[in-house]
Amino acid sequence: MKSFRDRLISLLPEVEKPARYTGGEWNTPEKSGNVKARFCFCFPDLYEIGMSNLGLQILYSEINAHEDYAAERCYAPKADLAEKMRSNGIPLLSLESGTPLKEFDVVGFSLQFELLYTNILYMLDLAGIPFYSRDRGEDFPLIIAGGPCAVNPEPFADFFDCVVVGEGEGVDFALLRLVEEGKSKGWSKRRVLEEAKKIGGVYVPSLHEEGETVVKAVVADFENSVYPVNPLVPNVEAVHERVTLELYRGCASGCRFCQAGYYYRPIRERSAEKCAEYAKQAVESTGYGEISMCSLSTGDYSGLKELMDRLRGFVHDKHVNLALPSLRLSSFSGEMAQESRRSSLTFAPEAGTQRLRDVINKNVTDAEIDNIGKAFEAGYSNVKLYFMLGLPTETDEDIAGIAEICRRLRGLYVATTGKRNLTVSVSCAVFIPKPCTPFQWEAQISMEEMLRKQNYLRGLLRAIKGVTFSWHGAESSVLEAALARGDRSLSAVIVRAYESGARFDSWTEQFDWNAWTRAFADCGADINRFTGAIDPDADLPWDFIDTGVSKKYLKAQRELAYLGVTTKNCREGCNGCGANKLGRCTII
Ligand code: SF4
Repeated sequence: MKSFRDRLISLLPEVEKPARYTGGEWNTPEKSGNVKARFCFCFPDLYEIGMSNLGLQILYSEINAHEDYAAERCYAPKADLAEKMRSNGIPLLSLESGTPLKEFDVVGFSLQFELLYTNILYMLDLAGIPFYSRDRGEDFPLIIAGGPCAVNPEPFADFFDCVVVGEGEGVDFALLRLVEEGKSKGWSKRRVLEEAKKIGGVYVPSLHEEGETVVKAVVADFENSVYPVNPLVPNVEAVHERVTLELYRGCASGCRFCQAGYYYRPIRERSAEKCAEYAKQAVESTGYGEISMCSLSTGDYSGLKELMDRLRGFVHDKHVNLALPSLRLSSFSGEMAQESRRSSLTFAPEAGTQRLRDVINKNVTDAEIDNIGKAFEAGYSNVKLYFMLGLPTETDEDIAGIAEICRRLRGLYVATTGKRNLTVSVSCAVFIPKPCTPFQWEAQISMEEMLRKQNYLRGLLRAIKGVTFSWHGAESSVLEAALARGDRSLSAVIVRAYESGARFDSWTEQFDWNAWTRAFADCGADINRFTGAIDPDADLPWDFIDTGVSKKYLKAQRELAYLGVTTKNCREGCNGCGANKLGRCTII
């Protein structure tokens, strides 16, 4: 009888991009068949998205570095293959060994953002694993989750045995070790979970008691933490095909809407020496032609100049490009423009006026926006600008300010180069109030207001030559807000939406708003309850998660926002957010 894997391979000629499903990527570690415990990382999106995720590559290499343990991977298959798998009775398999997910010791989902929640169910369904942890007996693996969404695990808590809150390095490994110990000692799943609950950062929804706190896991020694110097090289074109170099964790800027900036505090930098060494090793082991310096505000990294100096000769000799994604305007320099040989530069002013930028604590001044002129001098003729619509206190004047910035850049370009071929891409997301930010209590604007603001801006930008405009969907933005601030009642809604056909909700062409509105109605849940304003004194579903940053600090930041008062960058001195109780901020 043919193995599941052989049967799957025989189906691949009939589906789009078969190489998504074959495994065997360059740098795949060789593991013996005698490992003591096995972990399967599940990324609930397509292969080409998941393969670009640095976090997954870090955790994967950490486990595989140990000879007793093996980590494998599984990505969400596209519908064409999923249908064939169902009709041929083939369950979801890992890429490396073609093992059904059910046969692993631990299956861990990486939850990067809220619109992936139905894909958890999609993958469990294909794997033949019940959705709810309460329906899974001793024979099923430990099903766990981690990633940024763990900041509020309540909407999906009922699906998982454990949720890793904070940084997974060390924690995933500890869980796998625990499961191995449980196997050798014949522990029940409940006993394993009782032990798991004692590991820092592990939330066990089924054993959680009122009043208990889960303290976020933090990598204390970031300098020496795992970095995948031999990352897997994707078999099909991925969204990012480059070496991703993580310079530091956390962010010193304190933008009041930014969840990652608060969630990943304390701020820990890796030395330029180590970053340069890792970058070189990763280029050598992959053959990539680009190094992307990737952190929340790359330009703020204190070792940036030293790092560029250390890499200059290497990138020149190897013909490798240095990319600097999403720079802060205030830290951008002409030297950076010279070093980064990309066709376009990306900046995120987020708001069109100084007033609103002060509200959100985006410490960018109009004068600094003129800094982009340095890029024009260096030969750049494409600029990508990111903004947000619907921020607290926003007026039409702030929206008109976005068009004004584009006009100013055009004028600057003509004055600097004498040419008129500048292209500006304006991309506007919708503000989503996220847990663990000073704006976690804010209302999201209504869908009607989103559409009105988008139309207003579109009209203004149409009048400016060389400007293109793209925007986020109103319906998916409402859903993202509801899932971000949801409570346990939403797990039934997610299941209902999945049963009504919702999956791959982050893909515009797949997004099915009707499935979601029906699901909310069927479950008697009011979506507006999760997107409206929240009383700052009310209990929040995620109050039991301790991210280090105190609620008092978030409230104080919210008050400053309404006064239009900014808070200094942490690099100028600690602002007392509280995160350093979990580890040292290495920048102060
Ligand atoms: S502890 Fe201080 S320096 Fe560290 S992130 Fe918080 S405010 Fe900034």
